[in-house]
This record gives sequence, C-alpha cells and structure tokens, in this order.
Amino acid sequence: MRDFDLLQPKTLTAALDALAPNDPATRPLAGGTDMIVDIRSGRAAPTALVSLQEVAELRGIKRENGTLQIGAATTLAEFLTHPDLAHQALYQAAYNFANPMVRNLATIAGNINSASPAGDMLPPLLVLDAQIELVSKSGTRLVALDQFLLGPRKTVRRADEVIASIRIPALRPQSPVSTGFYKLGLRQADAISIISVAVRLERDGDTIRDVRIALGAVAPRPIRATGAEAVLRGQPFSENALKESARIAAQECAPIDDLRASANYRRRMIQVYVRRMLEQTWNKTL
Ligand SMILES: Cc1cc2nc3c(=O)[nH]c(=O)nc-3n(C[C@H](O)[C@H](O)[C@H](O)COP(=O)(O)OP(=O)(O)OC[C@H]3O[C@@H](n4cnc5c(N)ncnc54)[C@H](O)[C@@H]3O)c2cc1C
Repeated sequence: MRDFDLLQPKTLTAALDALAPNDPATRPLAGGTDMIVDIRSGRAAPTALVSLQEVAELRGIKRENGTLQIGAATTLAEFLTHPDLAHQALYQAAYNFANPMVRNLATIAGNINSASPAGDMLPPLLVLDAQIELVSKSGTRLVALDQFLLGPRKTVRRADEVIASIRIPALRPQSPVSTGFYKLGLRQADAISIISVAVRLERDGDTIRDVRIALGAVAPRPIRATGAEAVLRGQPFSENALKESARIAAQECAPIDDLRASANYRRRMIQVYVRRMLEQTWNKTL
C-alpha cells in the first residue's frame, strides 16, 4: 500500500481547513470500507486522508421543520435501530447491506460519495427525494441526490467539500404513503446487487396519487424510472397498469453484462421486481 498522511481533526472546522486547498489527492475518510479497499487495489492513491470519525457535528439524526436530517457519519447499523429512520425502503436496504461487521463501520455519506451504480442506499434515497448538504470553507449548498450523482464514482462534490447531512422531506400527512426496496444478489449476505428496485407509493382511495421508482445496478448510476412512474401517476391501481409500468422500466434501464449477470437477465429481473415491488408497496398502504 502506498504511504499517505492521516489527519484526525476533532471538529468540522478543522476538517474543512484540511480540505480547503481543494486538492483531489486529499480525500475524506469515514468507515474506510470502500476507501481502504480502493487504496489496496491501486484504484485510489490519496496523498492524505482526512478522517471524519471524530467529528461530532457529522453524527446524529434529527427532525427540523418537518425535514429528517441524517448525519453524514450515520452507520448502516444505525439505520436498523433508529426509530426515526422508519422508512421501509431505507430499513430494507440497510438490512440487506453487506454483513454486520461492515454495517458497523460503513456510513451513509460514504455510500453516497462512492457513487457506485450498485450502491444499495441510493435507490431508496432517490425515491425519498433526498438532498445532500455539502459544506466547505466557502459555504453550504443543498443538492438533490439525482443531481449529485453523475456516473460511476463521479459526483458533483468538490474536493474541498464534505457531505454534512442527508435531508429527507417530511411525508405529506393527507394520504397513506409506503416505501419498499428489493435487492437481487447472488447470496443472502455480502453480495453486490445484480439489480435493485426502490418504490415510494402514495395512495388516494383506489388511485395511485403519486409514485416514484428507482433502479440500481442497471445504468452508470442509480436512476429514477420516470416513464414507468408516469403511466401510473393519477391512475387507478390495476394489475395491467403495474405490468405496463414494469415493462417500461425494463426499457428505461441500460444494464451491462458482467461477472454477476447478463444485461438481458438484469432487464428481465427489473421487469419482474418492479411489478412485484409496486404490488407489495401498494398492499402496505391498505
Ligand atoms: C465486504 C464488503 C461488503 C460490502 N457490501 C456492500 C453492500 O452490500 N452494498 C453497498 O452498497 N456497498 C457495499 N460495500 C461498499 C461500502 O461498504 C459502502 O459503499 C459504504 O457505505 C462506504 O462507506 P464508508 O463510510 O466505509 O466510506 P469510506 O470508504 O470511508 O469512503 C468512501 C468514499 O466516500 C468519501 N466520503 C466518506 N465520507 C464522506 C463525507 N462525509 N463527505 C464527503 N465524502 C465522504 C470518501 O472520500 C470516499 O471517496 C461493501 C464493502 C465491503 C468491503
């Protein structure tokens, strides 16, 4: 492994000072479950790592003005125990994430910034309209996750910025809302997603008032299946409508062949699991 400096600031201000030169070779470090693997494999070659593990400001989960604010350093294990993180889709994604040892270290911001096409927390956050709070010495900006992710391992984050929190808008109280997530892997644990599907569904009587569908591991970055959503929005719930939506979702993705599965199989599984997740998520609103 190449040598690098390890900085261990105790405050956010000190962390931002360390990143202020905006040098891409100085990288934040959270749980290290991606970063250390990348350094070992030669994929990353930072000259300095700024550990965020002792920065208290990045920890904690709170509600402010109806928005849920999830601290960047929240671990995947915490998603399984914190009562405010009760969105089913987030819980299911965290539950199926890696293994207990990795979940104790891996953070939500690390998963977001790694921007893997198969990053498991990304589809649930996309359907929840998550916003990313980025802070630097020059200020704070909020970026929608959909705009934050550019492609495999590419985001709009500047090298001098830290993800401070993830913000999820409050649910509208009028109508029943439910979310769900499914990950198809080659094993029960420690599996990289072959495909993943997240759904958020809002019901009004027998009608689908609103729906959001996000797909993982079938494009250069997790995507919203906006065409599949459009055919359902405002429509009565019906088996035919679900089938049509799932068919369109399979057309909207751009999967690749790799060691885990062929593009063809991925497309087929998107069709199967989008339909299934829509049905299951609707049933949860009843
Ligand atoms: C055995 C194993 C199993 C895994 N299983 C899964 C899985 O099932 N699903 C899945 O999606 N992933 C999986 N991963 C990948 C990894 O665990 C996740 O992506 C994890 O969320 C990364 O978080 P981390 O805190 O360890 O990030 P780190 O490795 O510390 O950092 C990852 C990236 O994020 C940046 N970063 C971290 N925190 C911040 C911040 N606050 N602001 C700005 N940038 C930041 C770092 O600079 C780096 O670029 C697995 C990894 C291993 C080793």
